[in-house]
Amino acid sequence: MKSINGSTHRRVTDIPNAQASNTMNSTTGPALVANYLSFSFDATPVLDNVNFTVNRGEFVALVGPNGSGKSTLIRILVGLLRASSGTVEVLGCEPRMLRERWRIGYVPQRPALTGDLPATVEEVIQAGRLARRGWWKTFRQADHDAVDHALAAVALTDLRKRPVTQLSGGEQQRVMIAKALAGEPDLLVLDEPIAGVDKEAQRQFRDSVVHLVAHHQATVLLVSHELGAVAADLDRVIVLKRSVIFDGTPAELTSRGVSLGIHHDDLPLWLEDLEVPGAT
Ligand code: ADP
Ligand code: MG
Repeated sequence: MKSINGSTHRRVTDIPNAQASNTMNSTTGPALVANYLSFSFDATPVLDNVNFTVNRGEFVALVGPNGSGKSTLIRILVGLLRASSGTVEVLGCEPRMLRERWRIGYVPQRPALTGDLPATVEEVIQAGRLARRGWWKTFRQADHDAVDHALAAVALTDLRKRPVTQLSGGEQQRVMIAKALAGEPDLLVLDEPIAGVDKEAQRQFRDSVVHLVAHHQATVLLVSHELGAVAADLDRVIVLKRSVIFDGTPAELTSRGVSLGIHHDDLPLWLEDLEVPGAT
C-alpha cells in the first residue's frame, strides 16, 4: 500500500460553506449519483468509471472484496476526497457544496476517536443531534427522545454516562452509529458498521435503519459483508470491483447463486463466479 504522504492526489481537508448554496434541487431528484467517477492514489487506479444512482428513500448495500474501492468511493461521496475525474452528486449538490452537513450521517469504517476525547457516550450522541438543531438552540423533548432512541438502537443505554475512551472498539463504533442516527439524516452512509457485531446487535441495528428509511424517508447506503440481517429490507445491491460489476435487487443477485449471508472470506470466491456482461 502506498503512503499518502507527499502524494499528489487531491485531499479535501476544508469544507467550504460560506457562499455555498445548496438548497436548489436538494430535496428532489436522486440522493446519490456517480457519473464516470474515477480515482487514483498517486498512479494507482482505485475507482474506474463508476456509475450508479441511488434514489431517495432507497436502502442500498455496497459490497465487494477487500481493496475494491468501497471506502474510497464513500469518502468521495461524503466530500472527504475529490474524484480524479467524473462527477458525484449528493442530495442534489457537489458533496463539498452541501451546506447543511447534518443531512448526511456518515459512520466511517474505523471510528477516529482519539485517546483524549473527554466526552461521555451520551455527549457524543447529543453532538450528532446538535449538528441538526444548531448548537445555540435549546435541547427540546424531541431531541432528548432522539438521543434515547439512538442509544437504545445500539444497545448502549446502560453505558450512556461512560467516557467513550473506556469503551471497546466495537462499542465505539456503535456510538458513532447512534450519533448518526440521532441526527435523523436524509442520507445515512455506513462503512462496515456491523463487522464483528453479534446477531442481536445486528437485529437492533437493522430495526433502527429500517425505521429511519420508513419513517423519515431517509436514504441508506450500507457497506457490509454481513447482509443476512438486512437482506429482506434491501432495495438494491451494488457490487464494486473498481467499477460497478453488478447493480440490481437482492433477488437478482441470489438468482445467480450468490448468498447474502456471505462471510467476508467468501467474497472474492463468489465474485469470481459472478458473470456480468461487460465486466472487466
Ligand atoms: P475497500 O474499502 O473496498 O476495502 P479501499 O477503498 O479502502 O477498499 O481501498 C481501495 C484501494 O486503495 C486499496 O488497494 C487500498 O490499498 C488503496 N488505498 C486506500 N487508502 C489509501 C491511501 N490512503 N493511500 C494509498 N492507497 C490507498
Ligand atoms: Mg473499506
